[in-house]
Amino acid sequence: MAHYVQLAIWRRAACFPESLVRRNDESRTERERAPLMDFDFPADDDPRRLAVRAWRDANPEPTQAELHAAGYVVPHWPEPWGLGADPIHQIIIQQELAGLKVTCTKGGREMASNAIGVGWAAPTILLGGTEEQKARYLDRIFTHEDIWCQLFSEPDAGSDLANLATRAARDGEEYVINGAKIWSSGAHVSDMGILIARTDPDAPKHRGISYFAVPMDTPGLTMSPIVDMTTVHSFNQVFFADMRLPAENRIGEEGDGWRLAKVTLANERVSLSSAGSLWGAGPSAYDLLEQIKGMGPVVDATMRQKVARMFANAEVLRLNRLRTLSAKLNGRTPGTEASIQKLMADEHGQEVMEFAKELVGAEGMLTGSGPSGELSQSSRSDATEIKFRKGHFADVDPVWHYGFLFSPALTLGGGTWAIQRNIVAEMALGLPREPDVQQGMTWAETQKARA
Ligand SMILES: Cc1cc2nc3c(=O)[nH]c(=O)nc-3n(C[C@H](O)[C@H](O)[C@H](O)COP(=O)(O)OP(=O)(O)OC[C@H]3O[C@@H](n4cnc5c(N)ncnc54)[C@H](O)[C@@H]3O)c2cc1C
Repeated sequence: MAHYVQLAIWRRAACFPESLVRRNDESRTERERAPLMDFDFPADDDPRRLAVRAWRDANPEPTQAELHAAGYVVPHWPEPWGLGADPIHQIIIQQELAGLKVTCTKGGREMASNAIGVGWAAPTILLGGTEEQKARYLDRIFTHEDIWCQLFSEPDAGSDLANLATRAARDGEEYVINGAKIWSSGAHVSDMGILIARTDPDAPKHRGISYFAVPMDTPGLTMSPIVDMTTVHSFNQVFFADMRLPAENRIGEEGDGWRLAKVTLANERVSLSSAGSLWGAGPSAYDLLEQIKGMGPVVDATMRQKVARMFANAEVLRLNRLRTLSAKLNGRTPGTEASIQKLMADEHGQEVMEFAKELVGAEGMLTGSGPSGELSQSSRSDATEIKFRKGHFADVDPVWHYGFLFSPALTLGGGTWAIQRNIVAEMALGLPREPDVQQGMTWAETQKARA
Protein backbone atom coordinates (compact mmCIF):
# COMPACT_ATOMS: atom_id res chain seq x y z
CA MET A 1 0.00 0.00 0.00
CA ALA A 2 2.60 2.49 1.05
CA HIS A 3 4.55 2.02 -2.14
CA TYR A 4 1.89 3.07 -4.56
CA VAL A 5 1.27 6.25 -2.66
CA GLN A 6 4.89 7.16 -2.97
CA LEU A 7 4.71 6.46 -6.66
CA ALA A 8 1.52 8.41 -6.98
CA ILE A 9 3.18 11.72 -6.22
CA TRP A 10 4.37 11.89 -9.81
CA ARG A 11 3.48 14.86 -11.95
CA ARG A 12 2.56 14.86 -15.59
CA ALA A 13 4.35 18.09 -16.21
CA ALA A 14 4.99 17.20 -19.83
CA CYS A 15 1.39 17.71 -20.74
CA PHE A 16 1.01 21.07 -19.09
CA PRO A 17 3.95 23.18 -20.13
CA GLU A 18 2.04 26.45 -19.98
CA SER A 19 1.36 26.10 -16.29
CA LEU A 20 4.93 25.39 -15.42
CA VAL A 21 6.98 27.83 -17.37
CA ARG A 22 7.03 31.38 -18.64
CA ARG A 23 8.88 32.92 -21.45
CA ASN A 24 11.88 34.91 -20.32
CA ASP A 25 10.72 38.07 -22.12
CA GLU A 26 10.75 41.79 -21.54
CA SER A 27 7.14 41.94 -20.45
CA ARG A 28 7.84 41.33 -16.76
CA THR A 29 6.37 43.91 -14.44
CA GLU A 30 8.34 45.87 -11.87
CA ARG A 31 7.08 43.47 -9.21
CA GLU A 32 8.23 40.48 -11.16
CA ARG A 33 11.71 41.97 -11.34
CA ALA A 34 11.83 42.13 -7.54
CA PRO A 35 14.77 40.44 -5.74
CA LEU A 36 14.92 36.72 -6.42
CA MET A 37 14.59 35.71 -2.79
CA ASP A 38 12.63 37.69 -0.30
CA PHE A 39 11.28 35.87 2.74
CA ASP A 40 9.53 37.51 5.57
CA PHE A 41 7.93 34.75 7.59
CA PRO A 42 5.50 35.94 10.29
CA ALA A 43 6.77 36.09 13.85
CA ASP A 44 6.38 33.41 16.45
CA ASP A 45 3.40 35.16 18.03
CA ASP A 46 1.52 35.75 14.77
CA PRO A 47 -2.18 35.11 15.57
CA ARG A 48 -2.49 32.66 12.65
CA ARG A 49 0.41 30.67 14.03
CA LEU A 50 -1.07 30.66 17.53
CA ALA A 51 -4.41 29.45 16.17
CA VAL A 52 -2.80 26.47 14.41
CA ARG A 53 -0.75 25.67 17.52
CA ALA A 54 -3.84 25.76 19.72
CA TRP A 55 -5.61 23.37 17.36
CA ARG A 56 -2.64 21.06 17.35
CA ASP A 57 -2.46 21.05 21.14
CA ALA A 58 -6.14 20.15 21.28
CA ASN A 59 -5.76 17.49 18.56
CA PRO A 60 -2.38 15.80 19.07
CA GLU A 61 -3.37 12.76 16.98
CA PRO A 62 -6.27 13.83 14.75
CA THR A 63 -8.06 11.63 12.27
CA GLN A 64 -8.01 12.60 8.61
CA ALA A 65 -11.67 13.64 8.99
CA GLU A 66 -10.78 15.96 11.90
CA LEU A 67 -7.92 17.46 9.89
CA HIS A 68 -10.35 18.12 7.06
CA ALA A 69 -12.99 19.57 9.39
CA ALA A 70 -10.39 22.10 10.57
CA GLY A 71 -9.68 23.11 6.96
CA TYR A 72 -6.07 21.93 7.08
CA VAL A 73 -6.17 19.37 4.24
CA VAL A 74 -6.53 22.09 1.59
CA PRO A 75 -6.10 25.35 3.52
CA HIS A 76 -5.65 27.30 0.26
CA TRP A 77 -9.16 26.29 -0.87
CA PRO A 78 -12.24 28.42 -0.22
CA GLU A 79 -14.66 27.49 2.54
CA PRO A 80 -16.28 25.08 3.30
CA TRP A 81 -13.34 22.85 2.32
CA GLY A 82 -10.44 25.14 3.18
CA LEU A 83 -9.61 28.41 4.89
CA GLY A 84 -8.90 30.58 1.86
CA ALA A 85 -5.30 30.71 3.14
CA ASP A 86 -2.86 32.96 1.28
CA PRO A 87 0.65 31.61 0.60
CA ILE A 88 2.09 32.88 3.91
CA HIS A 89 -0.79 31.36 5.88
CA GLN A 90 -0.24 28.06 4.05
CA ILE A 91 3.41 28.04 4.99
CA ILE A 92 2.54 28.76 8.64
CA ILE A 93 0.12 25.84 8.67
CA GLN A 94 2.70 23.60 7.03
CA GLN A 95 5.36 24.61 9.55
CA GLU A 96 3.11 24.24 12.58
CA LEU A 97 1.64 20.89 11.55
CA ALA A 98 4.94 19.36 10.42
CA GLY A 99 5.35 15.86 11.82
CA LEU A 100 1.72 15.66 12.99
CA LYS A 101 0.54 12.05 13.15
CA VAL A 102 -2.78 11.80 11.37
CA THR A 103 -4.73 8.58 11.79
CA CYS A 104 -6.40 7.40 8.66
CA THR A 105 -7.89 3.95 8.49
CA LYS A 106 -10.43 2.45 6.16
CA GLY A 107 -12.02 -0.94 6.78
CA GLY A 108 -9.36 -1.52 9.43
CA ARG A 109 -6.65 -0.77 6.87
CA GLU A 110 -4.11 2.03 7.39
CA MET A 111 -4.36 4.54 4.51
CA ALA A 112 -1.28 6.55 3.74
CA SER A 113 -2.22 9.26 1.30
CA ASN A 114 -4.67 10.32 -1.38
CA ALA A 115 -2.29 12.34 -3.50
CA ILE A 116 -4.13 11.99 -6.81
CA GLY A 117 -7.51 12.60 -5.18
CA VAL A 118 -6.44 15.71 -3.29
CA GLY A 119 -3.95 17.07 -5.79
CA TRP A 120 -5.65 16.36 -9.10
CA ALA A 121 -9.20 15.09 -8.96
CA ALA A 122 -10.44 17.59 -6.38
CA PRO A 123 -9.20 20.81 -8.08
CA THR A 124 -10.65 19.59 -11.38
CA ILE A 125 -14.02 18.88 -9.78
CA LEU A 126 -13.95 22.28 -8.09
CA LEU A 127 -13.27 23.92 -11.42
CA GLY A 128 -15.47 21.93 -13.77
CA GLY A 129 -17.89 20.00 -11.59
CA THR A 130 -21.53 20.74 -10.89
CA GLU A 131 -22.67 21.60 -7.36
CA GLU A 132 -24.03 18.08 -7.11
CA GLN A 133 -20.65 16.59 -8.13
CA LYS A 134 -18.80 18.78 -5.63
CA ALA A 135 -21.12 17.59 -2.86
CA ARG A 136 -20.77 13.97 -3.98
CA TYR A 137 -17.00 13.78 -4.29
CA LEU A 138 -15.04 16.50 -2.52
CA ASP A 139 -15.45 15.82 1.21
CA ARG A 140 -14.92 12.10 0.63
CA ILE A 141 -11.62 12.87 -1.10
CA PHE A 142 -10.36 15.07 1.74
CA THR A 143 -11.36 12.58 4.45
CA HIS A 144 -9.75 9.82 2.33
CA GLU A 145 -12.99 7.88 2.35
CA ASP A 146 -12.45 7.62 -1.39
CA ILE A 147 -8.94 7.03 -2.70
CA TRP A 148 -8.50 8.11 -6.34
CA CYS A 149 -6.20 6.98 -9.13
CA GLN A 150 -5.44 8.46 -12.51
CA LEU A 151 -6.47 6.74 -15.73
CA PHE A 152 -4.70 8.86 -18.35
CA SER A 153 -1.74 7.06 -20.00
CA GLU A 154 -2.26 4.47 -22.67
CA PRO A 155 0.14 2.13 -24.43
CA ASP A 156 0.19 4.56 -27.39
CA ALA A 157 -0.39 7.79 -25.52
CA GLY A 158 2.17 8.75 -22.90
CA SER A 159 4.18 11.82 -23.80
CA ASP A 160 1.67 12.40 -26.58
CA LEU A 161 -1.27 12.03 -24.21
CA ALA A 162 -3.72 13.86 -26.46
CA ASN A 163 -3.42 10.94 -28.84
CA LEU A 164 -5.39 8.72 -26.44
CA ALA A 165 -7.70 6.14 -28.03
CA THR A 166 -9.98 5.02 -25.18
CA ARG A 167 -13.44 5.72 -26.55
CA ALA A 168 -16.43 7.08 -24.64
CA ALA A 169 -19.47 6.84 -26.92
CA ARG A 170 -22.67 8.56 -25.81
CA ASP A 171 -25.70 6.29 -25.57
CA GLY A 172 -28.68 8.14 -24.11
CA GLU A 173 -27.91 9.08 -20.51
CA GLU A 174 -24.80 6.91 -20.44
CA TYR A 175 -21.38 6.65 -22.03
CA VAL A 176 -20.09 3.30 -23.24
CA ILE A 177 -16.35 3.11 -22.56
CA ASN A 178 -13.96 0.83 -24.43
CA GLY A 179 -10.18 0.80 -24.37
CA ALA A 180 -7.22 0.35 -22.04
CA LYS A 181 -5.10 2.48 -19.74
CA ILE A 182 -1.65 1.67 -18.43
CA TRP A 183 0.72 2.66 -15.63
CA SER A 184 -2.28 3.41 -13.40
CA SER A 185 -0.57 3.82 -10.03
CA GLY A 186 -2.59 2.40 -7.15
CA ALA A 187 -5.67 1.59 -9.28
CA HIS A 188 -5.98 -1.72 -7.42
CA VAL A 189 -6.47 0.05 -4.09
CA SER A 190 -8.55 2.95 -5.38
CA ASP A 191 -12.26 3.61 -5.08
CA MET A 192 -12.46 6.15 -7.88
CA GLY A 193 -10.46 7.11 -10.96
CA ILE A 194 -10.16 10.24 -13.08
CA LEU A 195 -10.44 9.13 -16.67
CA ILE A 196 -9.90 11.02 -19.90
CA ALA A 197 -11.43 9.40 -22.96
CA ARG A 198 -12.26 10.33 -26.54
CA THR A 199 -15.85 11.41 -27.05
CA ASP A 200 -15.39 12.83 -30.57
CA PRO A 201 -12.89 11.13 -32.89
CA ASP A 202 -13.79 13.60 -35.64
CA ALA A 203 -12.50 16.62 -33.72
CA PRO A 204 -8.81 17.64 -33.59
CA LYS A 205 -7.06 15.40 -31.08
CA HIS A 206 -7.00 17.90 -28.19
CA ARG A 207 -10.65 18.86 -28.58
CA GLY A 208 -12.49 15.53 -28.69
CA ILE A 209 -11.55 14.48 -25.16
CA SER A 210 -13.82 14.44 -22.07
CA TYR A 211 -13.09 14.02 -18.38
CA PHE A 212 -14.91 11.49 -16.18
CA ALA A 213 -15.10 10.30 -12.57
CA VAL A 214 -15.19 6.50 -12.57
CA PRO A 215 -16.11 4.24 -9.65
CA MET A 216 -13.49 1.51 -9.84
CA ASP A 217 -16.06 -1.22 -9.20
CA THR A 218 -18.11 -0.39 -12.31
CA PRO A 219 -19.01 -3.58 -14.24
CA GLY A 220 -16.90 -3.79 -17.42
CA LEU A 221 -13.78 -2.43 -15.71
CA THR A 222 -11.06 -4.99 -15.08
CA MET A 223 -7.37 -4.69 -14.38
CA SER A 224 -4.17 -6.65 -14.32
CA PRO A 225 -1.22 -5.92 -12.07
CA ILE A 226 2.16 -4.64 -13.25
CA VAL A 227 4.95 -5.41 -10.80
CA ASP A 228 7.83 -3.03 -11.28
CA MET A 229 11.49 -3.80 -10.69
CA THR A 230 11.31 -2.70 -7.07
CA THR A 231 9.19 -5.92 -6.83
CA VAL A 232 6.21 -3.86 -5.73
CA HIS A 233 2.79 -4.05 -7.37
CA SER A 234 2.35 -0.34 -7.88
CA PHE A 235 1.00 -0.08 -11.43
CA ASN A 236 -1.89 -1.64 -13.26
CA GLN A 237 -3.24 -1.96 -16.73
CA VAL A 238 -6.94 -1.09 -16.66
CA PHE A 239 -9.36 -2.37 -19.30
CA PHE A 240 -12.80 -1.11 -20.24
CA ALA A 241 -15.09 -3.48 -22.12
CA ASP A 242 -18.46 -1.86 -22.84
CA MET A 243 -18.32 -0.22 -19.43
CA ARG A 244 -21.45 1.90 -18.99
CA LEU A 245 -20.95 5.12 -17.10
CA PRO A 246 -23.80 7.52 -16.27
CA ALA A 247 -23.45 10.85 -18.12
CA GLU A 248 -23.67 12.57 -14.73
CA ASN A 249 -20.14 11.25 -14.08
CA ARG A 250 -18.71 13.52 -16.77
CA ILE A 251 -16.85 16.47 -15.25
CA GLY A 252 -17.33 19.63 -17.31
CA GLU A 253 -18.67 19.88 -20.83
CA GLU A 254 -18.24 17.18 -23.42
CA GLY A 255 -15.02 17.85 -25.35
CA ASP A 256 -13.58 20.04 -22.59
CA GLY A 257 -11.47 17.30 -20.97
CA TRP A 258 -8.11 18.48 -22.21
CA ARG A 259 -8.59 21.99 -20.83
CA LEU A 260 -9.69 20.55 -17.49
CA ALA A 261 -6.73 18.20 -17.32
CA LYS A 262 -4.37 21.13 -17.96
CA VAL A 263 -5.96 23.48 -15.50
CA THR A 264 -5.76 20.88 -12.76
CA LEU A 265 -2.02 21.19 -12.46
CA ALA A 266 -2.15 24.94 -12.01
CA ASN A 267 -3.75 24.27 -8.63
CA GLU A 268 -0.58 23.06 -7.05
CA ARG A 269 -0.34 24.40 -3.54
CA VAL A 270 2.52 26.43 -2.16
CA SER A 271 4.92 24.07 -0.49
CA LEU A 272 8.15 24.13 1.47
CA SER A 273 9.09 21.31 -0.86
CA SER A 274 11.60 18.88 0.50
CA ALA A 275 14.98 17.78 -0.74
CA GLY A 276 13.96 14.09 -0.92
CA SER A 277 15.54 12.36 -3.89
CA LEU A 278 12.38 10.54 -4.97
CA TRP A 279 10.15 13.35 -6.22
CA GLY A 280 10.66 15.24 -2.99
CA ALA A 281 10.15 12.18 -0.78
CA GLY A 282 12.64 9.81 0.81
CA PRO A 283 16.32 10.28 1.57
CA SER A 284 18.12 13.31 0.21
CA ALA A 285 21.73 14.08 -0.71
CA TYR A 286 22.03 15.58 2.77
CA ASP A 287 21.00 12.26 4.36
CA LEU A 288 23.64 10.51 2.29
CA LEU A 289 26.25 13.09 3.26
CA GLU A 290 25.49 12.43 6.94
CA GLN A 291 26.13 8.75 6.30
CA ILE A 292 29.34 9.47 4.45
CA LYS A 293 30.59 11.66 7.29
CA GLY A 294 29.90 8.82 9.71
CA MET A 295 31.95 6.44 7.58
CA GLY A 296 35.19 8.39 8.07
CA PRO A 297 37.37 10.19 5.51
CA VAL A 298 36.73 9.56 1.82
CA VAL A 299 40.22 8.56 0.71
CA ASP A 300 39.47 7.81 -2.92
CA ALA A 301 39.94 10.98 -5.01
CA THR A 302 37.26 10.06 -7.56
CA MET A 303 34.77 9.42 -4.80
CA ARG A 304 35.63 12.75 -3.19
CA GLN A 305 34.87 14.48 -6.49
CA LYS A 306 31.54 12.71 -6.62
CA VAL A 307 30.68 13.75 -3.07
CA ALA A 308 31.49 17.36 -3.92
CA ARG A 309 29.45 17.27 -7.12
CA MET A 310 26.45 15.71 -5.38
CA PHE A 311 26.59 18.35 -2.63
CA ALA A 312 26.91 21.18 -5.16
CA ASN A 313 23.91 19.91 -7.12
CA ALA A 314 21.88 19.55 -3.93
CA GLU A 315 22.68 23.15 -2.98
CA VAL A 316 21.74 24.48 -6.43
CA LEU A 317 18.42 22.68 -6.16
CA ARG A 318 17.84 23.92 -2.61
CA LEU A 319 18.42 27.53 -3.66
CA ASN A 320 16.23 27.09 -6.71
CA ARG A 321 13.42 25.74 -4.50
CA LEU A 322 13.75 28.84 -2.35
CA ARG A 323 13.57 31.06 -5.43
CA THR A 324 10.35 29.34 -6.48
CA LEU A 325 8.90 29.67 -3.01
CA SER A 326 9.94 33.30 -2.78
CA ALA A 327 8.24 34.01 -6.12
CA LYS A 328 5.00 32.49 -4.90
CA LEU A 329 5.11 34.25 -1.54
CA ASN A 330 5.67 37.55 -3.30
CA GLY A 331 2.76 37.04 -5.67
CA ARG A 332 4.84 36.23 -8.73
CA THR A 333 4.33 33.26 -11.01
CA PRO A 334 7.44 31.09 -10.80
CA GLY A 335 9.09 31.14 -14.20
CA THR A 336 12.10 29.32 -15.49
CA GLU A 337 13.07 28.20 -11.99
CA ALA A 338 10.03 25.91 -11.82
CA SER A 339 10.66 24.33 -15.20
CA ILE A 340 14.29 23.53 -14.55
CA GLN A 341 13.55 22.18 -11.06
CA LYS A 342 12.00 18.91 -12.20
CA LEU A 343 14.60 18.41 -14.89
CA MET A 344 17.49 18.81 -12.47
CA ALA A 345 15.89 17.20 -9.43
CA ASP A 346 15.01 13.95 -11.23
CA GLU A 347 18.54 13.46 -12.51
CA HIS A 348 19.95 14.46 -9.13
CA GLY A 349 17.70 11.87 -7.44
CA GLN A 350 19.20 9.18 -9.65
CA GLU A 351 22.70 10.45 -8.88
CA VAL A 352 22.08 10.21 -5.12
CA MET A 353 20.59 6.73 -5.26
CA GLU A 354 23.31 5.38 -7.53
CA PHE A 355 26.01 6.89 -5.34
CA ALA A 356 24.53 5.30 -2.22
CA LYS A 357 25.11 1.92 -3.85
CA GLU A 358 28.49 2.76 -5.30
CA LEU A 359 29.81 3.73 -1.89
CA VAL A 360 29.85 0.12 -0.74
CA GLY A 361 31.59 -1.15 -3.86
CA ALA A 362 30.72 -4.62 -5.10
CA GLU A 363 28.50 -5.18 -2.07
CA GLY A 364 26.16 -2.59 -3.56
CA MET A 365 25.06 -5.21 -6.07
CA LEU A 366 23.43 -7.24 -3.32
CA THR A 367 19.71 -6.97 -2.94
CA GLY A 368 19.00 -4.79 0.04
CA SER A 369 22.37 -3.14 0.38
CA GLY A 370 22.70 0.56 1.15
CA PRO A 371 25.49 3.03 1.87
CA SER A 372 26.33 1.44 5.17
CA GLY A 373 26.52 -2.10 3.90
CA GLU A 374 24.42 -5.22 3.45
CA LEU A 375 20.78 -5.70 4.29
CA SER A 376 20.80 -6.77 7.90
CA GLN A 377 23.17 -4.00 8.93
CA SER A 378 21.33 -1.39 6.85
CA SER A 379 17.95 -2.26 8.24
CA ARG A 380 18.95 -2.32 11.87
CA SER A 381 21.36 0.52 12.32
CA ASP A 382 21.39 2.76 9.24
CA ALA A 383 20.16 6.16 10.43
CA THR A 384 18.34 6.86 7.17
CA GLU A 385 16.53 3.53 7.26
CA ILE A 386 15.30 4.30 10.76
CA LYS A 387 14.32 7.85 9.79
CA PHE A 388 12.26 6.77 6.78
CA ARG A 389 10.68 3.59 8.10
CA LYS A 390 7.33 5.37 8.40
CA GLY A 391 4.75 7.11 6.23
CA HIS A 392 5.30 6.49 2.53
CA PHE A 393 8.21 4.18 3.23
CA ALA A 394 6.75 2.15 6.09
CA ASP A 395 6.96 -1.12 4.14
CA VAL A 396 10.16 -0.36 2.25
CA ASP A 397 13.12 -2.13 3.67
CA PRO A 398 15.72 -0.94 3.14
CA VAL A 399 14.82 2.42 1.71
CA TRP A 400 18.16 3.03 -0.06
CA HIS A 401 17.84 -0.18 -2.05
CA TYR A 402 14.22 0.52 -2.92
CA GLY A 403 15.14 4.09 -3.92
CA PHE A 404 17.91 2.83 -6.20
CA LEU A 405 15.54 0.46 -7.99
CA PHE A 406 12.83 3.10 -8.24
CA SER A 407 15.07 5.93 -9.41
CA PRO A 408 15.00 5.21 -13.18
CA ALA A 409 11.28 6.04 -13.04
CA LEU A 410 12.10 9.58 -11.90
CA THR A 411 12.98 10.71 -15.42
CA LEU A 412 9.89 9.02 -16.94
CA GLY A 413 6.87 9.76 -14.74
CA GLY A 414 5.33 13.21 -14.91
CA GLY A 415 6.98 13.92 -18.22
CA THR A 416 10.13 12.21 -19.45
CA TRP A 417 13.53 13.87 -19.35
CA ALA A 418 13.34 14.52 -23.10
CA ILE A 419 9.94 16.18 -22.80
CA GLN A 420 11.21 18.33 -19.93
CA ARG A 421 14.06 19.51 -22.14
CA ASN A 422 11.59 20.31 -24.90
CA ILE A 423 9.62 22.41 -22.42
CA VAL A 424 12.68 24.34 -21.28
CA ALA A 425 13.80 24.85 -24.88
CA GLU A 426 10.45 26.09 -26.15
CA MET A 427 8.92 27.88 -23.19
CA ALA A 428 11.92 29.18 -21.28
CA LEU A 429 14.54 29.67 -23.97
CA GLY A 430 12.07 30.60 -26.69
CA LEU A 431 13.47 28.15 -29.24
CA PRO A 432 11.23 27.12 -32.17
CA ARG A 433 8.42 24.71 -31.32
CA GLU A 434 8.63 21.05 -32.24
CA PRO A 435 6.88 20.70 -35.63
CA ASP A 436 3.37 19.23 -35.31
CA VAL A 437 2.83 17.09 -38.38
CA GLN A 438 -0.77 16.42 -37.31
CA GLN A 439 -1.80 20.06 -37.15
CA GLY A 440 -5.23 20.69 -38.67
CA MET A 441 -6.15 16.99 -38.74
CA THR A 442 -8.92 15.33 -36.79
CA TRP A 443 -7.92 12.50 -34.48
CA ALA A 444 -9.56 9.96 -36.83
CA GLU A 445 -7.49 11.33 -39.74
CA THR A 446 -4.28 11.03 -37.71
CA GLN A 447 -5.10 7.38 -37.10
CA LYS A 448 -5.67 6.74 -40.82
CA ALA A 449 -2.41 8.53 -41.63
CA ARG A 450 -0.55 6.33 -39.14
CA ALA A 451 -2.06 3.16 -40.59
C1 LIG B 1 6.37 6.02 -11.47
C2 LIG B 1 5.36 6.34 -12.53
C3 LIG B 1 4.04 6.51 -12.16
C4 LIG B 1 3.09 6.75 -13.13
N1 LIG B 1 1.78 6.84 -12.75
C5 LIG B 1 0.82 7.05 -13.68
C6 LIG B 1 -0.57 7.10 -13.31
O1 LIG B 1 -0.94 6.94 -12.14
N2 LIG B 1 -1.49 7.31 -14.27
C7 LIG B 1 -1.14 7.49 -15.57
O2 LIG B 1 -2.04 7.72 -16.39
N3 LIG B 1 0.17 7.41 -15.98
C8 LIG B 1 1.15 7.18 -15.06
N4 LIG B 1 2.48 7.09 -15.45
C9 LIG B 1 2.83 7.13 -16.89
C10 LIG B 1 3.60 8.38 -17.31
O3 LIG B 1 2.77 9.50 -17.43
C11 LIG B 1 4.24 8.06 -18.66
O4 LIG B 1 5.18 7.02 -18.44
C12 LIG B 1 4.94 9.26 -19.26
O5 LIG B 1 4.00 10.25 -19.61
C13 LIG B 1 5.76 8.83 -20.50
O6 LIG B 1 4.97 8.15 -21.41
P1 LIG B 1 5.40 6.71 -21.98
O7 LIG B 1 5.82 5.84 -20.85
O8 LIG B 1 4.31 6.23 -22.86
O9 LIG B 1 6.70 6.99 -22.84
P2 LIG B 1 6.73 7.53 -24.36
O10 LIG B 1 5.93 8.78 -24.46
O11 LIG B 1 6.37 6.42 -25.30
O12 LIG B 1 8.25 7.90 -24.53
C14 LIG B 1 9.23 6.90 -24.92
C15 LIG B 1 10.56 7.59 -25.15
O13 LIG B 1 10.44 8.55 -26.23
C16 LIG B 1 10.84 9.85 -25.79
N5 LIG B 1 9.96 10.85 -26.43
C17 LIG B 1 8.60 10.80 -26.54
N6 LIG B 1 8.15 11.92 -27.16
C18 LIG B 1 9.23 12.70 -27.41
C19 LIG B 1 9.41 13.98 -28.02
N7 LIG B 1 8.35 14.68 -28.47
N8 LIG B 1 10.67 14.47 -28.09
C20 LIG B 1 11.75 13.77 -27.64
N9 LIG B 1 11.63 12.54 -27.06
C21 LIG B 1 10.40 12.02 -26.95
C22 LIG B 1 10.65 9.83 -24.29
O14 LIG B 1 11.49 10.77 -23.65
C23 LIG B 1 11.01 8.41 -23.93
O15 LIG B 1 12.41 8.28 -23.77
C24 LIG B 1 3.46 6.84 -14.50
C25 LIG B 1 4.80 6.67 -14.86
C26 LIG B 1 5.74 6.42 -13.89
C27 LIG B 1 7.17 6.20 -14.31
